[in-house]
Parts: sequence; structure tokens; C-alpha cells
Amino acid sequence: MQTFAVLGGGPMGLAVAWRLLKQGHQVTIYEAGERLGGMSASFDFDGLRIERFFHFLCATDYDYFDLLQELGIGDKLHWVNTRMGVFHDGRLHDWGEPFALLKFPGLSLVEKVRYALKVLYCKHLKNFDALDQTRATGWLRQWLGERAYNVLWHPLMSLKFYQLQDEVSAAWIAARVQRVAHSRESLFKEKLGYIEGGSDTWLFAMEAAIRAKGGEVCLATPVEQVLVENGTVTGLRLQDGVRHFDKVISTIPLPYVAKMVPDLPAADLQKLHAVRNVGVATVKFKLSRPLTPYFWLNLTDTAFGIPGIIEYSNLNPLQDKVLYVPYYMPQDNHKFAWDNDQFRSEAIRCLKAINPAFDESWIKAFHVSRYYYAQPVCVQGFLDTLPPMRSAINGFYMADTSYYYPQDRSITESIKLGNQLADMAGSVHG
Ligand SMILES: Cc1cc2nc3c(=O)[nH]c(=O)nc-3n(C[C@H](O)[C@H](O)[C@H](O)COP(=O)(O)OP(=O)(O)OC[C@H]3O[C@@H](n4cnc5c(N)ncnc54)[C@H](O)[C@@H]3O)c2cc1C
Repeated sequence: MQTFAVLGGGPMGLAVAWRLLKQGHQVTIYEAGERLGGMSASFDFDGLRIERFFHFLCATDYDYFDLLQELGIGDKLHWVNTRMGVFHDGRLHDWGEPFALLKFPGLSLVEKVRYALKVLYCKHLKNFDALDQTRATGWLRQWLGERAYNVLWHPLMSLKFYQLQDEVSAAWIAARVQRVAHSRESLFKEKLGYIEGGSDTWLFAMEAAIRAKGGEVCLATPVEQVLVENGTVTGLRLQDGVRHFDKVISTIPLPYVAKMVPDLPAADLQKLHAVRNVGVATVKFKLSRPLTPYFWLNLTDTAFGIPGIIEYSNLNPLQDKVLYVPYYMPQDNHKFAWDNDQFRSEAIRCLKAINPAFDESWIKAFHVSRYYYAQPVCVQGFLDTLPPMRSAINGFYMADTSYYYPQDRSITESIKLGNQLADMAGSVHG
């Protein structure tokens, strides 16, 4: 039995801790925030407990399903045939199935065929290596043609990554398309999942299971430094002193790690400094009536400043209607410093365009959540730009959502990688 400190109480940190406890180790989780969950944590939205950032599950989220079963809450997972839409040239159109594609007025027949072929190609892609060194923007333009690219992908690439858009790898885009393409009941029906009670349902069950197995959970306890002597981890420096551990596993966003572990080799510190993330400010509205029938609505007009909105209550049937408007951007974008009222009026301008009947009297509550390192910018050859998970310091391991590239961030991938990290560090030779 060894003593482990796990840094970060998001899905990955929890998965690491749970797995290590089952292996018989002694585990302490350190979470800087006042609640577990990281990006999947919830808040009180005027009487409704809901995630700060929306979450849906796909049919291939196997590691997530396994964990729900293990925690005895598999019955809390529900599946819904959701609808996807696109707001184009001032009108709403169906999207996401063959008839909708055929009817969509924004593309020619040839462009539609090219688009369908691209989705099929991504859906059946087994190995993403060939796309790893390819630039997403060029690859998508080649597949679809310039005009179709501008309608379908330019809004996402330019309004999520801004000046970094040309650095994103095609493998990352292809994996994103594949995950959603596999989540279907049939060619004509998309199927997405949600958890009754939201992510809190499994986060609370997980916390209870961890504590019941002897794990320690320290909330509101940011780790200041990982202590190292003669190339080996000795423990942590916390605000109120030092604590000794045999091993330390970090699951916090990589940009924080460089400062926290200055004893890493210079080349690894340089890599950590070079990883870029975009931030997100997500505007949420609780409405008295629905805005659209769609769960996911893409916007083709970049003037709205967002590539899409998520009407979460069209997936999870809540009493009130809940809508998320995510503004992703590099943190140096002037909008990232906007106050809540600026985001509110910008989002309302968009909602009014989408549904001219929308009136501000529909708004029952409003909230903005921000996450500084919300999405790594997965550049070409991304994994080669990261330091190794098993670091050069004996007993120190690190990962964050970057490491499951080409897969996009998701709870299931964080759980899967957390399990792998625990197996790597918890073994006798770890
Ligand atoms: C807008 C948005 C929408 C999303 N939608 C979906 C979705 O639909 N489906 C899905 O599956 N996933 C979705 N995700 C992604 C999902 O939330 C993440 O992949 C997952 O939560 C990542 O978990 P993690 O533990 O790897 O990292 P994080 O959640 O980032 O957790 C890291 C933790 O480290 C803590 N920390 C930081 N610094 C310190 C420190 N010094 N000491 C101690 N702790 C520290 C943080 O407070 C945080 O709790 C979405 C994310 C966002 C932002």
C-alpha cells in the first residue's frame, strides 16, 4: 500500500482516486474549488441544481456507463431522440439526418453529397494517425469546398479558436464527428443521453463511495507545489503546511502544472508552457417557454459571435426551459473580460433573431459561468507536444483532457484516462 495525493477533483481525479482505492492504496484528493466535478460541477440556478456547462452522453461513452453501473445508478441514465437544427439566412432548418440535409437550402446537391461522404468517412475511420499531421481548416475545405466550409465549419472554427483556428488538427475534428455519428438509433434518429439529476448524481455517489473506502476528500484546498528531493516526490506544499506522500498524480489543467512542479526537466516545462487552451463563458437562461424544438442549434452567421446554442431542456425534460449559450475564445480576446450584462445583451440579440416571438419576459433566471482552461487547442501532432504522463520525477504523474487526443473533452474520456493513470502509477513498478 502506498500513499497517493490526487490533484483535481474533476471526473479524471475521481476516477484515479477510486481505482487506486480499489487497488488497496491510501488516497487523498485535493480540489481547489468548493465542490467536486470541475467542468461538470453544478450550481443552484434559482432553485434548480444544474451543470455550469451542459453535458450530454453519447452511445459510445462506455467507461462512463461502466462507472454508473458500478456505483449502482445505471438506472439514472436516460436516452432521448434529440433534434438538431441549423439557423441559416434568418430561418430555422432541421439538421442531422438525410432528409434534413436534402431539404437544407444553404448547400448545393454536390456540396450535400460531399458533406455526407465526409461524415461517413469519419464515422468509419479506425485510425486517426493519417489526419494527425493535417490541418483541420484545410482538410475540411478540401472535402467540402470553400462555400460549404464557410456555411458548415467556419463558424465553429473561427468562433471557438479565433486566431488559433488554423493550428487545430484534422484528427481532432474527425474524432468529434465520429462520436456524434455513432450516437444514433437509426440513420434518421439521433440518440443522446442525460443523467437524471445531472452530473451531480454520479459525482455525489462517487464521493460517497470514495469516502466509504477510506479515501480523503479535501475541498477548497488548492495545491501550491509538488515537493521533490533528489528526483523523487516527497509530498505537497499546501496553504497550511506540508504533507508527505509516496506518489502524486495531477489531473489539473496542464498550464497550472509548470508553476506547481518547477523540478520537472526544462524541456517538459517548456512543453507545458506551450500548450494552449481556450476559455469559455457560458450564458444560461431559464425560460418560461421553449425557444426552439432543437437540442443543438448551429448558427451559420458569424455575426452572432457564437457557433451554436444548446437548449438543454429538449434533452432533459425539466420543468423550466434551460438554454446554454457558450462563448469559447482565447483568453486574450476582449470579450473574455466582458461582464455578465454584456454577455446577456449579446445572447439576447441572438435569441431574438432565432425566434422573433422571444420576449425578455420569458427569462426567469440568468447566469454566466466561466472556465479559464476549458478546451486544449489540439494542434497537429498534439501528443508529441505534451510531456510524458509518467514524468521524469519519480512518483509524479500528470494528465489532463489534452492526453486523450484525438478524442475531444468528455467525461467518459476523463474517466478512461483516469483509470489508465491509476493503473500506471498504482502498480508495483509504477
Ligand atoms: C462548455 C462545456 C461543455 C461540455 N460538454 C460536455 C458534454 O456534453 N459531454 C461530456 O462528456 N463532456 C462535456 N464537457 C467536457 C467535460 O466536462 C470534461 O471533459 C471533464 O469534466 C474533464 O474532467 P477532468 O477531471 O479531466 O478536468 P476538470 O473538470 O478541468 O477538473 C480539473 C479540476 O482540477 C482542479 N484544480 C485546478 N487547479 C488546482 C490546484 N492547484 N489544486 C487542486 N485542484 C485544482 C479544478 O478546480 C478542477 O476541479 C464539456 C465541457 C465544457 C467546458
